Amino acid sequence: MEFITSPSQKFDLPKRIARLGELATNLWWTWNPEAARLFGRLDYDLWERLGHNPIRLLNEIEHARLKQSAKDADYLALYDAVFERFDAYFKKQAWTQKAHPELKNPVAYFSMEYGLHETLPIYSGGLGVLSGDHLKEASDLGLPLVGVGFMYAQGYFSQRISEDGWQEALNNFLTFDDLPVALVTKDGEPVAIEINFPDRAIRAQIWEVRVGRVPLYLLDSNVEGNDEYDRLLTARLYWSDLDRRIMQEILLGIGGVRALRALGYDPAVWHMNEGHASFLTLERIRELVAGGNTFADAARQTLSQNVFTTHTPVPAGNDEFPLWLVEKYLANYWGELGITREEFMEVAKHSHPHGETYSMPILALKLSGGSNAVSELHGEVSREMWKSLWSDRPVKDVPIDHITNGVHTANWLARRMNILLEKYLGADWYDNLDDPKLMQKLDTIPDEELWKVRLHLKRKLAFYLRERVRDRWTHGGFHPVQVVSSGVLINPYALTIGFARRFATYKRASLVFSDVERLLEIINRPNMPVQIIFAGKAHPADEPGKQLIQKVYRTVKKAETGGRLVFLEDYDMNLARYLVQGVDVWMNTPRRPYEASGTSGMKAAINGALNFSILDGWWREAYNERNGWAIGEEKPYESAETQDAADAESLYRALEHEIIPLYYDRNSKEMPLDWIARAKDAMKTVIPQFSTRRMVKEYVEKFYAPAAKK
Ligand SMILES: *Cc1c(COP(=O)(O)O)cnc(C)c1O
Repeated sequence: MEFITSPSQKFDLPKRIARLGELATNLWWTWNPEAARLFGRLDYDLWERLGHNPIRLLNEIEHARLKQSAKDADYLALYDAVFERFDAYFKKQAWTQKAHPELKNPVAYFSMEYGLHETLPIYSGGLGVLSGDHLKEASDLGLPLVGVGFMYAQGYFSQRISEDGWQEALNNFLTFDDLPVALVTKDGEPVAIEINFPDRAIRAQIWEVRVGRVPLYLLDSNVEGNDEYDRLLTARLYWSDLDRRIMQEILLGIGGVRALRALGYDPAVWHMNEGHASFLTLERIRELVAGGNTFADAARQTLSQNVFTTHTPVPAGNDEFPLWLVEKYLANYWGELGITREEFMEVAKHSHPHGETYSMPILALKLSGGSNAVSELHGEVSREMWKSLWSDRPVKDVPIDHITNGVHTANWLARRMNILLEKYLGADWYDNLDDPKLMQKLDTIPDEELWKVRLHLKRKLAFYLRERVRDRWTHGGFHPVQVVSSGVLINPYALTIGFARRFATYKRASLVFSDVERLLEIINRPNMPVQIIFAGKAHPADEPGKQLIQKVYRTVKKAETGGRLVFLEDYDMNLARYLVQGVDVWMNTPRRPYEASGTSGMKAAINGALNFSILDGWWREAYNERNGWAIGEEKPYESAETQDAADAESLYRALEHEIIPLYYDRNSKEMPLDWIARAKDAMKTVIPQFSTRRMVKEYVEKFYAPAAKK
């Protein structure tokens, strides 16, 4: 197998710095900030203007600048240091080789979306960012893993907010030549896989992305031979149109298995990250049935190698299809499985009062040897939710375990914070970041040094917001009220709260506006100003989500807020990085227990921000009364209204009586010592436990290694 690298990825670089091209086409640089600086330092303005795209940077930069850098001793010192690390990384024996040498055949990891970097917008939110972090961690751990997903021709939409707060979606046509993807070919021809629907066949080609040591294969139906409709199949994430939705999931599950076979892989484990990929279970059975097994035998044999992770109890996240639609696309498939239509439907049947549907999570749950939810509470909720599938057992024995999510530390930790940790925890702290004992050394960091880094990160956020606004204002069509609402009046020394996530209604973005008068009083106290920065997209078809954005925006733009409430357009991984690193407090107000885990709060905590959240998902496990604050109580309510009212009251009280006074309680050097102590406690408790380091190791111990043994 070869990979066709597009001509624009063969760079014309001075010999001394020629390896920049290699760095640009492996996403390793995205979680090594010193490597990113290597690009930025070539031409900082251009780097920002191109949205941190190293391939475009190397193509569009003036050659004179490259020549100059190739002679600059400072630059070359950084260059040599980065490549020393780069080469050592790929040579090093990692954890898997020591702890699990038996893991030789790869884990196949299937996900509808991957959040790897803002220049590759093939993610919509938390699910994708988690997949991206999983791949990066697998690379760090030396875990043989291969990812499967889609190369979306249009990427996820870019968001604009109108003067009246209405979300507008801009299509985002990607130029593959500018991206770190290479077409997979054999004998000069693109490798392609085929799916046969009853009335036609569709084909897909395969792109490869290199994520450190981990390859990610992305299917793309925009190929000759497919009609226009089918060519658009992989154009976008999450089509609302059910026909396209089921076709995408067939392509991911069935096509994904065929793609790995075409590439010569024989995975030991098949991990479905959410139910979108569940059809892979059937394709693996089909392979064995073609070899002479019965369906039942094949299902038994493949079961122990399948792992399924469920990510949400919210119905919209648990795909189900009408039976007639399944029949429309798979009527010729059950024959290949050696079963009847009734037997086929039975496997994934979900009975509702209004009739029966074909449920993707049920398909995965029934055909996987290991299933898990993504936090302890989500485990309980999921066992309750799916108990009817195991009606002979008590709820506690429903076989859905939990592995709490984590974040990829190097990807989300500020460069300055990493330098501080290297100084006080040791240059190799990153190799042992999941060791809670090592984290005790955080107490040796002088308060002043930690606070200096915190202030630096907040100033960086404020400057970044200003430059974003300047850019929008310069290009015209931006109303002054939008300028103010985008954060130009932000004060880098005032207590700053961040709230950024998808605008789904259960996340209750407007909870803090339950009593606007009280909120205005809170943010405008003399000498104790408070700022709240909001950001987030709603799915373009989610009308209530878009109305929620509008409700938030209409309050944000009121003059009485003094510019202290802000709504930032176009939340993506880049903006997320600035926010989680720069704010003092990270707020999350989901309606319990719908936030299965949540991960953005972890990103904030590892940078020394304090969480202020509902005791749901991950925060219920992390909160210890010293590392942040809880909103509301851990109990069920009779109605959503009473729950919202109780949570809002709790939120205001904590702000008024605890958070604001603590932040502004300064010593003679203007430092809030108790606050800093809490920041250290947050880092100490969250860095080891809520990392993908701990998470991926848990997947290995609980699921991957046992499955590979069978
Ligand atoms: C981390 C992240 C998310 C997920 O955050 P939640 O806490 O799960 O809501 C969503 N979008 C982006 C861009 C992120 O970086």
